[in-house]
Parts: sequence; structure tokens; C-alpha cells
Amino acid sequence: MPELPEVEVSRLGITPWLQGQTITNIIVRDVRLRWPVPDTLQQACGRTIQHIRRRAKYLLINVGIGDIVLHLGMSGKLRVIDAQHPPVKHDHVDIVLSNGKCLRYNDPRRFGACLWQPNDVLLPLLSKLGPEPLTSDFTPQRLITLAKGKKSPVKTFIMDNDVVVGVGNIYANEALFMAGIDPRRAAGRVSAKRYQMLTQTIKTVLEKAIAQGGTTLKDFAQSDGSPGYFAQHLRVYGRSGEPCEVCDTEIKSVVIGQRNTFFCPECQR
Ligand SMILES: [Zn+2]
Repeated sequence: MPELPEVEVSRLGITPWLQGQTITNIIVRDVRLRWPVPDTLQQACGRTIQHIRRRAKYLLINVGIGDIVLHLGMSGKLRVIDAQHPPVKHDHVDIVLSNGKCLRYNDPRRFGACLWQPNDVLLPLLSKLGPEPLTSDFTPQRLITLAKGKKSPVKTFIMDNDVVVGVGNIYANEALFMAGIDPRRAAGRVSAKRYQMLTQTIKTVLEKAIAQGGTTLKDFAQSDGSPGYFAQHLRVYGRSGEPCEVCDTEIKSVVIGQRNTFFCPECQR
């Protein structure tokens, strides 16, 4: 599943090809994504792309009067290719541009989304989101306040989109390791000092992943187009049974909130 860094790198990758181009056609081959692709999307035809933003894992392609809202779901991929290029299986949507290219959305599992959001209406799925982790809106104070009295595990807490968006499973595991916090600990029982540390480590793991993904950008408009998962060095994720890099203790794995969780029982308390 593409996580926040992959979506951000996709945004960086497609922006130079899309910005300033006029949309000449929108071809929808299959409307059956997570929600049906709406007819209102056609309003973007004839409009010029102003900018592309990211909110959580949504990409918002602004055409002046509104945004085309894209979500990659579990298996979605975006490619910038020649519009003449014949579509293959699961190529559901083409946004055709005046430069002869098109932004092609492929999604075998169809959990992704392609929606229309007029300027004056915020889609409900975007209006309820917590702050972006890489902005100054995401503060230790926010975690401290929201965690008060919470008995749910701290890992579940930081993966909750109401608390902060875009902290996926891999990054939650890594950030908790770097902050020395046991992922099973009740959110309400993590000290203010450690929430300060955790806020910073969440920002650090995400920034690092985006920076690493940026190195794949030159290939973005070529064959595959997907930045995929970044070959980031993971210190606990997927490493159960291996020795901890810091203390040599065996990395353990448990399931928390139906997600695989990895931690060092010595370094994380
Ligand atoms: Zn350790």
C-alpha cells in the first residue's frame, strides 16, 4: 500500500509534467473504483492545471474551479505517458493533457479513488482529517492533549488519522523504535517528554523516506512510473528474530490492531 512518502514522491514526480497544461480529455474506462468515478469530473476538461497538492494520502490536482482528487488505495499507480500509448488491463482513468501526455491511473484492486471537489465544497473524507505530520500543526502538545486517559496502545494512537494523518504501519514501527517507546504501551501512559521525542522521530522517518524516494524521480515518466517502496534502511520493521542494531537483543513481533508490530524489548519501554 502506498504510504505518505510514496504519495508525496508521486506528487513531486508528476508535477513538472502536469502543471500549466490544459486538460483536453478525461477518459474513464471503469467507474468502479472505491467510489464510482463521478460525471462531475468532466468539468475539469478544458481547464488548466494550476498546482498539485497532497493532503494525507490524497493528491489534489487543482484546475482553478476545483480539484481532481486521487487516492492510490492498495494498489494504485500513476504514470505520465504518451496519450497514444494503448491502455492495458486495469488502466481505469486517463487525464489527457495538451502536451500530448496523459496521467494514467492503473489499479488492479480498485480500492483507490478519483473524485471531483469543487472549490467551495470540501469532500467529507478530506474535512475530517488530522494535521499533516510534516507541518507545524503537528506538535507534541497535540499528542499529549489527545492521549490523556487513552488506554489504546500508543502505536494505534499515532496511526489514527484523527490524531495525525499519514503515519502508516512501517513508519509507526520505526518512529516508536527511534523514540524508545514500547508500541504496546497505553497512549495515556507515555510521558510528555517522550511525546516530544516521538513527534520528532515521526517527522524524521517520513522526511527521510521522501528524500530517498526523490532519487527514483528521474525514472518517473518511464515504463513503470511507480516510485514503489523506497529501499529505506528499516531498523525494526520486518526484522523479528534478528538482533537489535543498538543492543543485540532479539527483535520481537506482536500484532496490535491487526497490524504486524516489531520492537526491541530492551530499547523500547
Ligand atoms: Zn535494542
